[in-house]
Amino acid sequence: MFIGHFAPAMVAATYPKAPGLGTLFVAGQLLDFGFFGLALAGVEKFRITPEITKMVPLDLYHMPYTHSLLASAVWALGFALLIWLFTGNRIGAMIGGLVVLSHWVLDLLVHAPDLTLAGSPPKMGFTLWDYPLIEMPLELAITFGALAFFVARTRPIAPSSKFVLVLLAILLATFQAVNWFAQEPEAATMGMMITALIAFTVASVAAFLVGKTRMLKQV
Ligand SMILES: [Zn+2]
Repeated sequence: MFIGHFAPAMVAATYPKAPGLGTLFVAGQLLDFGFFGLALAGVEKFRITPEITKMVPLDLYHMPYTHSLLASAVWALGFALLIWLFTGNRIGAMIGGLVVLSHWVLDLLVHAPDLTLAGSPPKMGFTLWDYPLIEMPLELAITFGALAFFVARTRPIAPSSKFVLVLLAILLATFQAVNWFAQEPEAATMGMMITALIAFTVASVAAFLVGKTRMLKQV
């Protein structure tokens, strides 16, 4: 999953007390922000193993601090606490935390067995990355379905709202296309980790702008 992690964020953003869309985008990818950050620091580890899955060559052999269920819960709790401290919005904090947790569940669907409950084996993953004819339509459907859902439940409140919305859609499609179709990397380089962090950040900034230029419709 790459852009699919933003789907829960876009659905959650339609709840009246939810945090802004930009905050929820960060929540959806918080575990990968953490993973690539910790990988840069040499704390978590991955390597390129071309045959590990049909679609994604990442052999994610050591990520106990971001992609164990226990660690995910800690990150979710921390993120929820931050939202609560900054806004006093308890329901918004819970929504943010749940979106952080959704990352682990979506990863469980697609990853090769590399996820853990608390850092040590058994390793889990249903490996949908071996089934592109299922994984690709699924990821596109949940992401763009969620975007359509968000758009249907909000209305524009600024002249730039259409522009930033189209920008977000193009960015998501482009990032996913690069993720799927660009030449496979030969090694796990720093450049690759930094590129991923930049992509997550750019998507979150675009989502922040979309969130600022739309508001929930009254129901
Ligand atoms: Zn992940």
